[in-house]
Amino acid sequence: MLSYEKLFIDGAWVAPLDGSIEETINPATGKPWAKVAFGGARDIDKAVEAAKRALSGPWGKMTAIERGTLLRRLADLYQANANALAELETKDSGRALRESRMDVGSHHQWYRWFASVAETRRGNTIPIDDTVHAYTSEVPVGVVGAITPWNVPLMITAWKLAPALAAGCTIVLKPAEQTPVTSLEFARLVEEAGFPPGVVNVVPGIGSIAGAALSSHRDVDKVSFTGEGQTAKTILQNSTGNMKRFSFELGGKAPHIIFEDADLEQAINAATNSSWALCGQSCALGARVLVQRSVYERVVEGFAERAKQVKVGNPSDPSIHMGPQAHGEQLSKTLSYIQSGVDEGARLVSGGKCLTEGDLAGGFFIEPTVFADVSNNMKIAREEIFGPVACLIPFETEDEAIAIANDSEFGLASGLWTRDMGRAHRVSSQIKAGMVWVNTYRYIRWSTPYGGMKASGWGRENGLEAMSQYLEVKTTIMSTTSRFPNAYAVEKE
Ligand code: NAD
Repeated sequence: MLSYEKLFIDGAWVAPLDGSIEETINPATGKPWAKVAFGGARDIDKAVEAAKRALSGPWGKMTAIERGTLLRRLADLYQANANALAELETKDSGRALRESRMDVGSHHQWYRWFASVAETRRGNTIPIDDTVHAYTSEVPVGVVGAITPWNVPLMITAWKLAPALAAGCTIVLKPAEQTPVTSLEFARLVEEAGFPPGVVNVVPGIGSIAGAALSSHRDVDKVSFTGEGQTAKTILQNSTGNMKRFSFELGGKAPHIIFEDADLEQAINAATNSSWALCGQSCALGARVLVQRSVYERVVEGFAERAKQVKVGNPSDPSIHMGPQAHGEQLSKTLSYIQSGVDEGARLVSGGKCLTEGDLAGGFFIEPTVFADVSNNMKIAREEIFGPVACLIPFETEDEAIAIANDSEFGLASGLWTRDMGRAHRVSSQIKAGMVWVNTYRYIRWSTPYGGMKASGWGRENGLEAMSQYLEVKTTIMSTTSRFPNAYAVEKE
């Protein structure tokens, strides 16, 4: 059993004041594999106080270039430790090691890119007339409460912390209770990179205790949250104490449209991978697959063939494609959605069952699953399953495809496959989603804004847009004449 029995607060490793030591479960075995310190409300208070103090300490006085230098040092350490971090993330979340390596191996780029953004960001002058000089500058929002989910903990940490640090904010990071380990490993890198005490604090804990204490704290100036819509609503209800800022990255039910003129082989590659990657536990999952009727059965066959090729098993084995679901509760949720698909009359083409034989006994494994003849009114097409369940919906015309695509409460990601570039632009412009991928899928970079419309959230992560979310604009207007008339002067008769 590995041991992570201290929280990282104010640059030091400390025992919880009112939290506890909890065991975290390896989803591949269903058994505990690490002991982790969970913070309570007093620990969160202490971390927020440290973050507030750090704003007026050496960190607050640093130039953007000095902050950039620290971020690049962190990026170097991150890159050097990426393999070890990927292995731990696989143990904690169950994600296949080949996926963890690819993902975690890229995160250092976030810290590097935002270092450059910090150094090059500028305000503006505003032309008025020669009596005033008006300009804007940007200042950090302040203390950020960053709350992350269990599916891709380190990725979401990079998405939030790289721009927040570049902006000059200080942070209290609260990772999900199911996957706290890699966030504490990340804290070690922050310490080694030499960030001043209190700039980054890491306090794992239960959502309704540590998460609630953090998001409702009066000295937290902004909450940056990724998780479920219902949790976001609870956070809003609990946070009426001060006018803090919020950004919310929530769920999705991305339409993935395959037109009859698409390169079907490539489209099936992308649509199957985006239905089963991360064992279906991705907000950008492209598993609501809309297929034009003339090629529908060929695509259904393609899905069934690919499902047979997926190797499910021990996620730490680099030859495995798909690990288990991240926890038992998620597995039960996925199974109940599969049952509802069957009950509502969808055609189960492949998968649908738990895998419990041999080495898989005790873990939360499930087959990659394919439903055909799904109607967009079925529960499996409307709600976020967060399991490896592809739902294939037929359509006849472009207009019908757009109507089905937009008939969703969510608006995070979407994809479309066509060789007709006119159609690509037409359809892309009509889809109500923050992200449209054309002839590709799940392509995300540090510089490309990512976030949702409708119930998928508020704000954007990545890109220059993310940086803006951690900055306040300040307008300064200065008189060049230093004259101000007396408004109360007695008028001469
Ligand atoms: P969740 O909402 O259950 O938990 C997310 C975080 O919120 C955890 O750290 C949890 O401890 C904390 N939390 C729970 N209750 C809280 C409360 N009352 N106050 C404050 N914090 C609280 O979500 P999850 O199940 O961990 O993650 C899955 C969800 O995340 C899915 O809906 C998925 O789509 C979404 N997600 C979105 C993105 C994106 O970029 N849009 C990325 C990854 C995951």
